Amino acid sequence: MDLDTREWQRRDASHHLHPFTDHQQLRDKGARIITRGEGVYLIDSEGRRILDGMAGLWCVNMGYGCEELIAAAERQMRELPYYNLFFQTAHPPAIELASLLAEVTPPGFNQVFFTGSGSECNDTVLRMVRHYWACQGKPERQVIISRRNAYHGSTVAGASLGGMRGMHEQGSLPIPGIVHIDQPYHFGEGQGMSPHEFGLARARQLEQKLLELGPDKVAAFIGEPIQGAGGVIIPPESYWPEVQRICDHYGILLIADEVICGFGRTGSWFGCDTFGIRPDFMCLAKGITSGYVPLGAVMVSDRVAGVIERGGEFAHGFTYSGHPVSCAVAIANIRLMQKESIVKRVHDRIAPYLQRRWAELSALPIVGETRGKGMVAALEIVQDKHSKTRFPATAHAGLTCREFCFDNGLVMRAVGDTMIISPPLVITETEVDNLVDLARRSLELTAERLLV
Ligand code: PMP
Repeated sequence: MDLDTREWQRRDASHHLHPFTDHQQLRDKGARIITRGEGVYLIDSEGRRILDGMAGLWCVNMGYGCEELIAAAERQMRELPYYNLFFQTAHPPAIELASLLAEVTPPGFNQVFFTGSGSECNDTVLRMVRHYWACQGKPERQVIISRRNAYHGSTVAGASLGGMRGMHEQGSLPIPGIVHIDQPYHFGEGQGMSPHEFGLARARQLEQKLLELGPDKVAAFIGEPIQGAGGVIIPPESYWPEVQRICDHYGILLIADEVICGFGRTGSWFGCDTFGIRPDFMCLAKGITSGYVPLGAVMVSDRVAGVIERGGEFAHGFTYSGHPVSCAVAIANIRLMQKESIVKRVHDRIAPYLQRRWAELSALPIVGETRGKGMVAALEIVQDKHSKTRFPATAHAGLTCREFCFDNGLVMRAVGDTMIISPPLVITETEVDNLVDLARRSLELTAERLLV
């Protein structure tokens, strides 16, 4: 179907409820219609090229139009478009992907449970953690500790594990047995402490919470190595080693939500490699297929898998757990990453280049801080650079900047007044230059609009 933009917008507004969207607002304005993707660029229904600084939703790591992935999907569609993994059945793509994941994940991870998304990974992990402790004869170990402003998905367990107040307010969340501590967000909450001190202080909230609840009631701690949707919150270097020490000391399980950080985003295969975390579970999605088809995977450590395997049937699974087309695309995606040494390229070349260029934006009058790691980065829009005072909420500085970005041909996301990027890993130096130039122009226009 080839309609003009207005007609797409009219039909969209008539029948479509979008995720995370105020529909009244959208209907007044009309949706942006994206019709095609090419490398790191999107093309909209007006034929405009837009640099996708977010790789979709942090997922199109290998860029749009990747022939290897397209061919893998087509081949698998013809061979076996669907079969399930229930009732003692398997199929070649799931088997092959399971062993490939064991190969690329850190040592000690040799078992995988497939799901259809990141949210389903976290729902799976919540049930699996509690099942693990029940198998150990400790069913009272129920509580999972998470962080405020974490994002772990939109299902009931995912949103409960997440720490987004707005999500909790809709639907009486979190569900019982989930508690939250503060996040390691130094720019926003550092209160004059050095990053080192602040990282330790925030990690030690985990210990305080454990002692308050009673360590024998706590099952696990969950965290994203870098909080993505919360605003690319990169913890101080002191944070994760202290969290690890506390989890080890009290014997609670550590869950790394690698849905964003996994598959090269932070400059290593996994965020856990970058931060030296040794988790018991890793939740994977997004970059596992470069977003071409939906897939999630919970990596289960040998220690945990050994217990669960002896625990009888784990009554859990999805129709699309390990969908053969998704697995075939994931295999092609990971093999291509290996063949083209993508992670090494990110680590040695393109991430240092992106970070160097991104840091130049810190000179702008409305930028209070830039930060980044690997192929994610953020900057904080402020009214006063020296006191780091924010604009009043009514100024909508972040949204204003986001709109200027779009108009200038760049997708950059706003989380409050924090602007964030997560471009495809295959972006070139020239495209990084383009991204930074467009971001600079949009920030200057934002400043002109707001600093009157
Ligand atoms: N965990 C993290 C860290 C995420 O960023 C996301 C998605 N942004 C999810 C879980 C949920 O994944 P999905 O949207 O595939 O359910």
